[in-house]
Amino acid sequence: MTERTKVIEAIDLHKEFMVKIKGDGKVREIKSLKAVDGINLHVCKGETLGIVGESGCGKTTTAKLFLGLHNATMGSILLGDKDISHLKGKELKNFRKHAQMIFQDPYESLNPRFKIKNTIMEPLEIHGIGKDKAERYEMAKQMLSEAGLKPPEEYMDRYPHEMSGGQKQRVAIARALVLNPDFLIADEPVSMLDVSIRASILKLLRKMITEKDLAGIIISHDISLIRYISDRTAVMYLGKIVEQGSTEELIEKRYHPYTKALLEAAPNPDPEVKFTLENIKGEAPNPVDIPKGCRFHPRCPECMEICKMITPQEYDMGNGHKVMCHLYGDKNE
Ligand code: SF4
Repeated sequence: MTERTKVIEAIDLHKEFMVKIKGDGKVREIKSLKAVDGINLHVCKGETLGIVGESGCGKTTTAKLFLGLHNATMGSILLGDKDISHLKGKELKNFRKHAQMIFQDPYESLNPRFKIKNTIMEPLEIHGIGKDKAERYEMAKQMLSEAGLKPPEEYMDRYPHEMSGGQKQRVAIARALVLNPDFLIADEPVSMLDVSIRASILKLLRKMITEKDLAGIIISHDISLIRYISDRTAVMYLGKIVEQGSTEELIEKRYHPYTKALLEAAPNPDPEVKFTLENIKGEAPNPVDIPKGCRFHPRCPECMEICKMITPQEYDMGNGHKVMCHLYGDKNE
């Protein structure tokens, strides 16, 4: 198999917030919240990595670290061979050309006072791309067409309120890709859309990532969606990546009890079928009070005594498939 080129890589990445714990209207305590707790991830050119986990597991914080919207507490993020985890000022502005985001809510991500053409031309103007307005107009038109809004002239002068949710998400995708970024992050990109159009938006994202040779990161709580779109999958639980590997192998082998539970909750790979977590016992613990040992142990059906005391290390199961669980402790001995 040919080796793919890594575009972006997180190495032992940490993000810690200090949060105020209140009681009776007063601050009673200040606690540390380790939203991202030592993760290692990478994405290659033309590849889609899905990050899946329940709400509050650190997926969105991870996305913000990759985009330079948060500074890392520890560890690094390499874009090529440059560490971008603490960029500021002009360097940060230049980096933003390389990193784009699609948000969950297309209703709020577009400026309601901007015509569609201005929405897509704005990032080009900010970064000084295109020799004049006419060239930027043509670039915006071309991008809109690639995002499936054809003929583009029909949409260029519309306002967001004159478009459907799916059309607005296509505009958001066009705006993100017009800068020709190296990587694209989509955070729950279809959760606000009607189920009937989810698959078409996911197909468009997948097509754009492959054809433009981007590194794509798709974030969702829904493993059926991640399974549908991703080449590789990382399962995140309370700030740690507990299992990662090629999506096919991860689905087939599903080593970690949390991955098994997520998949049992969502046996259908169709993104139009609603996913629920009802068959996972209990709720994820509060991230300011992470359990000792394996953080999944209070909910784990396979919990052993060692799990309550010692944090499992990551075990290499072969083919880039890694799992953080004591059940596989003999694999690397
Ligand atoms: Fe379950 Fe133990 Fe594995 Fe944690 S380390 S997932 S508690 S078996």
